[in-house]
Amino acid sequence: MTTPSPLPSVPAAPAPAAPPSTPSTPSVTPAPRTLHSTWAPSYADRRPPATEADLDAAAEILRGHRVVALTGAGISTDSGIPDYRGPDAAPRSPMTYQQFVGDPGFRRHYWARNHVGWHHVNETTPNAGHRALAALEHAGVVTGVITQNVDRLHTLAGSRAVIDLHGHYNEVVCLSCGHVISRAALDERLLALNPGFLEEMTELGDVEIAPDADAVIEQTNHFRTASCERCGGILKPHIVYFGENVPKERVARAYAAVDDADALLAAGTSLAVQSGLRLVKRAARDGKPVVIVNRGVTRGDELATLRLNAGTSQALEHLAARLP
Ligand SMILES: [Zn+2]
Repeated sequence: MTTPSPLPSVPAAPAPAAPPSTPSTPSVTPAPRTLHSTWAPSYADRRPPATEADLDAAAEILRGHRVVALTGAGISTDSGIPDYRGPDAAPRSPMTYQQFVGDPGFRRHYWARNHVGWHHVNETTPNAGHRALAALEHAGVVTGVITQNVDRLHTLAGSRAVIDLHGHYNEVVCLSCGHVISRAALDERLLALNPGFLEEMTELGDVEIAPDADAVIEQTNHFRTASCERCGGILKPHIVYFGENVPKERVARAYAAVDDADALLAAGTSLAVQSGLRLVKRAARDGKPVVIVNRGVTRGDELATLRLNAGTSQALEHLAARLP
């Protein structure tokens, strides 16, 4: 779905607003993105791919421990959801909360793309990596999954103790009254407001889908958005965006999950955002083993007991076959 490209250079500040207010939207439009940071790896990963022996070593480190898993976009790439930060990711600019709230044109553009993207993301299914973590939980090895993804694939795979750190794409919240509705309920309204739009966009060809159900489409000026049925307020995906904080209660639950475990397994995340990195720091501070499975370098590499340059499906299946 993405073409290989160099590691993205992440802008040092939130991208400027790009209101799609003119009829001919430029072909390169900043794609809305969820929580982002200014961190980018300053060096390439020169480690060879992990061997069977490396994977066995990871299993030995985790054996006998109660393991909390921390996952990111890399675990969902095998489900067809592109990783916007991985080695193959195309450069992206994050959408900011301020853009979304401050610009009706930006919101219209965002919801039009989300309308298309949601239908695609909603059809994705868990892969071997998600299933392995669910199996490890059922086996009593994994005590919980903290995910930075908003795709709900851990829950669909059967994981029970899931903390969706950044929210998930299947809920929508009113910014005025706080009312939460399902994305499916909003879909019915958007379909009624925009007859034929979905078909028109789908016919245009291969739609590129992002982890937060954003789709890269350009002609969105005639899209009609929906507002809160209770108060007329602005509706927003119930996702933590750049410029927003993870709700305190959720942060506390994530720390509690780390404190409750005695080892941490980070999988498919570059740990670029603090919301994930600080959990790894917490585990390392307390002397708990930390295993990182990721293609490419991560911001938490120096905290790791063992780092594996490996895909999550392969590595987690390997661990599930050897643990407990
Ligand atoms: Zn409302």
